[in-house]
Amino acid sequence: MIPVTDNRKVVLIGTGMVGMSYAYALLNQNACDELVLIDLDKERARGEAMDLNHGLAFSGSHMKIRAGEYADCATADIVVICAGVAQKPGESRLDLLNRNTEVFRSIIGPVTESGFNGIFLVATNPVDIMTRITCTLSGFNPRRVLGTGTALDTARLRYLLGEYFSVDPRNMHAYVIGEHGDSEFVAWSQAMLATRPILEICEESGNCCREDLDRISEEVRTAAQQIIKAKRATYYGIGMAMVRITRAIFGNESSVLTVSAMLRGEYGQHGVFAGVPCIVGRNGVRKVLPLNLSAEESEKFRLSCETLENSYRELENL
Ligand code: NAD
Repeated sequence: MIPVTDNRKVVLIGTGMVGMSYAYALLNQNACDELVLIDLDKERARGEAMDLNHGLAFSGSHMKIRAGEYADCATADIVVICAGVAQKPGESRLDLLNRNTEVFRSIIGPVTESGFNGIFLVATNPVDIMTRITCTLSGFNPRRVLGTGTALDTARLRYLLGEYFSVDPRNMHAYVIGEHGDSEFVAWSQAMLATRPILEICEESGNCCREDLDRISEEVRTAAQQIIKAKRATYYGIGMAMVRITRAIFGNESSVLTVSAMLRGEYGQHGVFAGVPCIVGRNGVRKVLPLNLSAEESEKFRLSCETLENSYRELENL
């Protein structure tokens, strides 16, 4: 078991919009004691640390925040990676993936060389592949390498279901699983309002809500595109999802979160990283929860994993 420390230390690599939304949410939720910021753009990391520190006087937190170096990872509990390059006009998805792999090569090497022995949390897209790359390059136990997976998609789903049924989203138990991307889907057969299956509620109402459920699935799947169209990037929601995962780790909560985890036989998959409900605690993923998917959902999940496996195999020199 990774020792419980009284100095919860996070090193954040990549101080762009996502990284800093995470950092800002960490500060507001007092979710760690020490935060070190690293970016290729050192000036930016320095400026961001200054800006956050000036907010300390207005927060209930005593966080130590500074810009740092990879050597700082030696004593970190969690290394969070939000670094990445944006897609250039005309660039293929695969070219982008290859460039982000190079970015990760320049990050994971120095992190592991520092002697880091904690948990990796990855948000960079395509997140399932980048998490798998982190696992491969670090040689870490896969249970200590997590991606944000479909945590945000699941939060979006629960919010929309809460609105639809006029029920607190925290009482809507439903998961988006698979790739964080086009092939993700809602496991409706397992979706519950408290302990009542949503499909059963739907059936009782003469199935008139089936179309609405389809619309909700589609809204979840395309939410990122809609936000990007409106404001160029998404960052607050993912920042808060990452803090939720961070709290589950530091608090050894054993909370169920749909993170990207390596499947080792669960759902009939081996080696692929995908968004699935996992029990998350101090050591990362304690257990991947197998859901009782319908035959149709199992096939969707298999196809989603196949997409991820193919993308990973296309990578050069890994
Ligand atoms: P951004 O461009 O604002 O920030 C990226 C940062 O990475 C920059 O500050 C850049 O200097 C830094 N960087 C680049 N190469 C680096 C290197 N080699 N070493 C250290 N730092 C390096 O981008 P963003 O909006 O913050 O998005 C970051 C990533 O998060 C993207 O891949 C994006 O697609 C992803 N994202 C994921 C989710 C999710 O649900 N997982 C949601 C939103 C965004």
